[in-house]
Amino acid sequence: MSKLCPSAQPGMDNCRVLGVVQQDGPRPMLLYLNKPLPATDDVLAMAAPLKPTEVFRLSATCAEHQCPHFDGADCRLATRVARLLPPAVDALPPCIIRKDCRWYSQEGGTACLRCPEITTVTYDLSPETREVSGLPAVTER
Ligand code: SF4
Repeated sequence: MSKLCPSAQPGMDNCRVLGVVQQDGPRPMLLYLNKPLPATDDVLAMAAPLKPTEVFRLSATCAEHQCPHFDGADCRLATRVARLLPPAVDALPPCIIRKDCRWYSQEGGTACLRCPEITTVTYDLSPETREVSGLPAVTER
């Protein structure tokens, strides 16, 4: 079976809600769903007026060669998440896609300990966030 991307976009194949982003702490934290919920138009519309990816984290079939993060073998986003971010939690979060997750299969529990703080859409363009996202650094003038 194809691997699942845990930071997917609406409209990708097999798109489901992985969790809901809790915004009431100092940083966004994902609350994982305990059963599958297809990311239908009706479900995604519940995020309005925010974008679906601001309210939900979505999983979907990994797009592999259609995704800029895929290098032909690995997800480079997962690599950066595992290498560059500190752990967000002390124990593996309850997650129903673990056996099929691209990030877990590649980086193991190291990815899971950082996963709850990942948001698919972010407006925090700190140097650290840009590096993890694979965005070019902004040079100060
Ligand atoms: S918690 Fe682990 S298995 Fe679940 S989506 Fe995140 S990286 Fe994948």
